[in-house]
Amino acid sequence: VRVMNNFSLEQTYVSLPERFYAQVELSPVAAPQLIKLNEKLAEALGLDTAWLASPAGIAMLAGQAMPEGVQPVALAYAGHQFGNFVPRLGDGRALLLGDVTDSAGKTWEIQLKGSGRTPFSRRGDGRAALGPVLRECVVSEAMAVLGIPTTRSLAAVRTGETVLRETPLPGAVLTRVAASHIRVGTFQFFAAREDEAGLRLLADYAISRHYPDATQAENPYLALLESVIAAQARLVAQWMLVGFIHGVMNTDNMSISGETIDYGPCAFMEQYDTSTVFSFIDERGRYAYGNQPSMALWNLTRLAEALLPLLAENDDTAVEIAQTALGAFEPQFQTAYLAGLRAKLGLKTEQEGDIALARTLLETMKNDQLDFTQTFRALSQTELQEGLANTPDAVLLPDTLTPLGAWLKQWQVRLEQEPSCTPAQRAATMRRVNPCYIPRNHLVEEMIVQAVTEDDYTLFETLQSVLANPYQEQPGRERYALPAKPAERVRYTFC
Ligand code: AMP
Ligand code: MG
Ligand code: MG
Repeated sequence: VRVMNNFSLEQTYVSLPERFYAQVELSPVAAPQLIKLNEKLAEALGLDTAWLASPAGIAMLAGQAMPEGVQPVALAYAGHQFGNFVPRLGDGRALLLGDVTDSAGKTWEIQLKGSGRTPFSRRGDGRAALGPVLRECVVSEAMAVLGIPTTRSLAAVRTGETVLRETPLPGAVLTRVAASHIRVGTFQFFAAREDEAGLRLLADYAISRHYPDATQAENPYLALLESVIAAQARLVAQWMLVGFIHGVMNTDNMSISGETIDYGPCAFMEQYDTSTVFSFIDERGRYAYGNQPSMALWNLTRLAEALLPLLAENDDTAVEIAQTALGAFEPQFQTAYLAGLRAKLGLKTEQEGDIALARTLLETMKNDQLDFTQTFRALSQTELQEGLANTPDAVLLPDTLTPLGAWLKQWQVRLEQEPSCTPAQRAATMRRVNPCYIPRNHLVEEMIVQAVTEDDYTLFETLQSVLANPYQEQPGRERYALPAKPAERVRYTFC
């Protein structure tokens, strides 16, 4: 345990063998400057916020100088990138500082992203541009408030240096907090080297850290696989229910802990369409909105393959066990997704026609190019619920719901089967699962342009404040709830 001012930073990953990581020489930066310290998160983690905001703290957050005794490392991993296997990726621009334990006893890793070159950098500069750092800050914290498992953003600093992308851009470093940074690709790294001892050590580490109950199972490594499958099925269902598009679901960007990780080209769908893609590099739409469940299963299949040597001594048995485990993904995803859709529709009971009812709504939304978030939010208004209950034939619809006239009648018939709940109560319950505010792409872009070109962080601050209460209409902040106008629409995102 290394004591660092008022908190202790433990380094458990470096207790694993040296081939799991690489030691890194720090890269100095010109003029580190704090943009954002997430004080609430820092406090929850028991960190010393005053120290973090001091010159020594900022030097650490910029990856420039570490406190006494902290030896940062870059982690080794492999990964399938858009379907192509790369046996050695690793942290090319990230540094693991170590672990902190919060007051509830949960352990978190603290990592810098954009802190300079590492032995895994290949041709990269090891740096991050300001825009993507701000996007990750805003979107990851918004996801956390929406109750979606995610890595968190503890801090953002400017480096005072320029990074070269298509154009020169200001550089920045993000401090990321995660249950761990172990990925599907970390398992693939050892499997590809036929390093069974390494694989077993990694699996044991992941079990003790994330799924300690697995140690009690008859086959702990199978229990690990099953746990990751279940966590990912739930996670992707939650993404689908808010219209989140990860954008780069490579196996190195899928966390074993079940947290959303790597906010590169992520975006939120506006008009409902399962083929929606924003990432500029995703030319074929591999990671389109509607493909996310099957891509998650594809990645989990790669995890299962990597784990085969641990699942059973006999190869055929191992394959059989793995296939059975993978078979659980689809029903688990469907269960979570349908439960979420029912909640979004204000339904408390389960009926056979519910799937068809939801599907008809989604089809209408697609055909009439309705905004996914705004539509569900409009359905959650008390006036609408009361109108449907009292004057179903003459209910006054907001403009955004006009195309749903026929569907609303079907929905009303279904709602009548749940009379125990008043229209106002149902509307209130629905407003707790259908956000009014999501990080809309055009607002995120506007925020980035403002910060990069004008050094102005007003919108960065405002968006964080709006998104801290996504379920509550905030007077005067209507524009943050609205979809992009045609001229504002973001076509591509870049990481
Ligand atoms: P990502 O697409 O962000 O998941 O990154 C894929 C791989 O590329 C990882 O191994 C990263 O560490 C590496 N990488 C991405 N950007 C850079 C960069 N600017 N410098 C060095 N490595 C990078
Ligand atoms: Mg090493
Ligand atoms: Mg990545």
